[in-house]
Amino acid sequence: MTKVYNDPAVFKDEVLEGFALAHDRHVERVPGYSGFVRRGGPRAGKTSLVIGGGSGHYPSYSGVTGVGFADGAVLGDVFASPSTEQVYRIARAAHGGAGIVLAFGNYAGDRLNFGAAAERLRADGVDCRVVWVTDDIASADASATDDRRGIAGTFTVYKIGGAAAERGDDLDGVERVMRAANAATRSFGVAFAGCTVPGQSEPLFTVADRSMDFGLGIHGEPGIRTDEWMPAAQVARALVEPLLAERPDGATRAAVLLNGLGATKWEELFVLWGAVHPLLADAGVELVAPEVGELVTSLDMAGCSLSITWLDDELEELWVAPADTPSFRRGDSAPVAEHERYVDEADEGAESAADTASNESVRAAAAVRRALAALADVVAENEEELGRIDAIAGDGDHGTGMLRGARAATAAAERAQGGAGSVLAAAGAAFGDRAGGTSGVLWGMLLDRVGRRLGNEAAVDGAALAAAVRDAADAVRAFGRAELGDKTMLDALFPFADALDAGVAEGRPLAEAWSAAAEVARDAAAATADLVPRIGRARPLAERSVGTPDAGAVSMGMILTAVGATLADPADDGSTSDPSGSAS
Ligand code: ADP
Ligand code: MG
Repeated sequence: MTKVYNDPAVFKDEVLEGFALAHDRHVERVPGYSGFVRRGGPRAGKTSLVIGGGSGHYPSYSGVTGVGFADGAVLGDVFASPSTEQVYRIARAAHGGAGIVLAFGNYAGDRLNFGAAAERLRADGVDCRVVWVTDDIASADASATDDRRGIAGTFTVYKIGGAAAERGDDLDGVERVMRAANAATRSFGVAFAGCTVPGQSEPLFTVADRSMDFGLGIHGEPGIRTDEWMPAAQVARALVEPLLAERPDGATRAAVLLNGLGATKWEELFVLWGAVHPLLADAGVELVAPEVGELVTSLDMAGCSLSITWLDDELEELWVAPADTPSFRRGDSAPVAEHERYVDEADEGAESAADTASNESVRAAAAVRRALAALADVVAENEEELGRIDAIAGDGDHGTGMLRGARAATAAAERAQGGAGSVLAAAGAAFGDRAGGTSGVLWGMLLDRVGRRLGNEAAVDGAALAAAVRDAADAVRAFGRAELGDKTMLDALFPFADALDAGVAEGRPLAEAWSAAAEVARDAAAATADLVPRIGRARPLAERSVGTPDAGAVSMGMILTAVGATLADPADDGSTSDPSGSAS
């Protein structure tokens, strides 16, 4: 049970604050954001490694920020992915001008948010690679390794990548060794008791008394079998055997971790290691700098995992290379070295976007603010209804998440300066940061993309807007990897984009074309009731969802309709703010 906290809602922030005070020899807090860069900031010309995920796994991820390991670490709330905006900000702060590898364990939320952050970084001109770790053999079988979750093997993969970046490897090189390390890493764990999220009175999951759950995930994801309590010698065999079963031909040397999950004592780990070590030795495994201790925890969960990374000469050199971080030190690394701090000129230039916006685009930005206000109003009016629809086969958070996002977007748009592009980009960043959930990431990306496409100079006319909507819809589709008919927001968005294109091409005024297209979107959203979900959180309960429309498609239809009404609002002075008028 987690006992030490003030307000559970700010647990993560208080962890970050205390950690920064305790470890300022190694790390610097990125002001205003949920993460750290190594002390002294990014080194000019060095490839950067940025790692992260939910809080609750210390020493992952902030505890391994430093020389020879990560350049930056970003943290979400307990067991929740950091938002796109947080990943983006920490990555920008950690960038040394030579590109960034973003690395994380394979979980849906992390893949979405780190992936969307990578897209934003690339759009800024920062070369960026994404590596997710898939070491947990219990989570999918050997024919589907890319579906496996990331657990303690993340430690070895990040260590190897950090060492490569430290010795001066370029972005391609760091990405390459991390992929090689991931491909060579297998883990398997056992749980003895669940963990309790701060402020909760019940554990997130439980393990029956006097039993052991093998393969249970570090957030309670299903395991593969429950056994009765057994002595350590037998636990050791149960962990070692399935890992050796996936040993590559001819592999002998290995980095091995015996990782405690939080509540299992180090003494217990040493007892277990005493049994694991000879089993590996008997199998001809040569251990290279093994680690026994807490590396990737899960709050106060009891249990442990065993990880093996099969080493070739290159991986071995990187694994044993020096490191100096808050939780992990190895060899003689130069003390946190004096280095030239890289200053990101794009960051410095961002402020001037307001100065370069054209008058037309500044007027269009005013229309954008009105549209966002209408978006927030319609979501507020329908918050409960959207939650109800999402609860039929999903988790019921669609209304609350969308409302948090919409309010944050509206506020950010009010603060943002400049043209339509800057205002939409600010709104998109804020939406994704606050909304949470899949739709928050996707809506954040949608607004950001529309903004980037519109820019801050060109007048916003019907053709420009239709093209921007199309571009953004394509981006969301490519990124979320859903297809039409999968029962998602895309099933309302694409009919809308098609109808808007057609209306604009016929020469109809923007407000009219938009509203007609919004009606098409609403009908298409209603028609999703007949579909079976093939992606997202609703998929496991797919059949239950038939007869009810998709929550994300319904909100899409409502929002597009409400936005259409602001374009047609007679209070608009057509000559200054009707986007279709500004072109003439
Ligand atoms: P979560 O599913 O994370 O709880 P929400 O409840 O806010 O997030 O949003 C659920 C909606 O997100 C779904 O109804 C669907 O429309 C949309 N969605 C989920 N996955 C995808 C995807 N891969 N592509 C497009 N839309 C998606
Ligand atoms: Mg939901």
